Amino acid sequence: MRFDIITIFPEFFGGIFGHGVVKRAIANGLVEIGLRDLRDFTHDRHRTVDDRPFGGGEGMVLKPEPLMEAVESLGVAPKQERVLARESVILLSAQGAKFTQAVARELSTLDRVVLICGRYEGVDERVNELACDRELSIGDYVLSGGELGAAVIVDATMRLLPGVLGNEDSAAYESFGRPDAEFAGEQEGPPRSTHGAGGILDYPHYTRPAEFCGLAVPEVLAGGNHDQIRRWRRERALEKTLKNRPDLLDRAELSTEDRKFLEKFGFRSQ
Ligand code: SAH
Repeated sequence: MRFDIITIFPEFFGGIFGHGVVKRAIANGLVEIGLRDLRDFTHDRHRTVDDRPFGGGEGMVLKPEPLMEAVESLGVAPKQERVLARESVILLSAQGAKFTQAVARELSTLDRVVLICGRYEGVDERVNELACDRELSIGDYVLSGGELGAAVIVDATMRLLPGVLGNEDSAAYESFGRPDAEFAGEQEGPPRSTHGAGGILDYPHYTRPAEFCGLAVPEVLAGGNHDQIRRWRRERALEKTLKNRPDLLDRAELSTEDRKFLEKFGFRSQ
């Protein structure tokens, strides 16, 4: 899979993509990342990428011409042919739809994703209309640029590609994961993290030492009874989701047993 990032700060990404899973995926040829310096697509002496906003107001806006030229230089398919070509051009924007694990799963089926990083007050809206398939926000806060968002999208998406994580199944069994029914996951053996989360959060993890600062690892985990461990982990995951992200429970795949457990805490299922 290939990602191309259009930015005024290409050097920003050196450190971010130079570590761990992303670095390995690039080295193994599973992922390619291209960086385009927006200033290379300007034609004036000052390499101007921004201008004052029509209608007044603070700040500057990224001009459309260099951005459109940068997108064109990448040779992506015309907008109406993008889906077929398995390509997508995405504008990073605080006004965008929320980037979630479900969106990461969707993007991971594509061959190529182009990410446009805004700066200042944002990007001339015509770039969004003419070149972009979607606007994505990484959360409900305003950043000073789209670069961190682009890095978040690359990281979350590329770790879902086959072969990127050491263990094929790791990406299926974790927070926001799909329900068991959506993949042919076996149910034997010790529960994986988090065994078909079905849209809830992961359960808490423990490693050695068995006792730390007076806190013992929960007994059930040392017991080796896989059914008990699975149930315990599911309940802790449900508890944590109810406490930290109750909004996820409305859309989660919950079993009758899950619902019964949650009702003890006053959760009313719809
Ligand atoms: N005036 C804009 C904010 C501009 S911030 C507004 O109020 O919506 C400058 C750039 O940072 C944006 O163009 C966008 O590319 C990036 N950015 C800011 N917040 C972001 C977020 N939550 N997710 C993704 N990109 C973001």
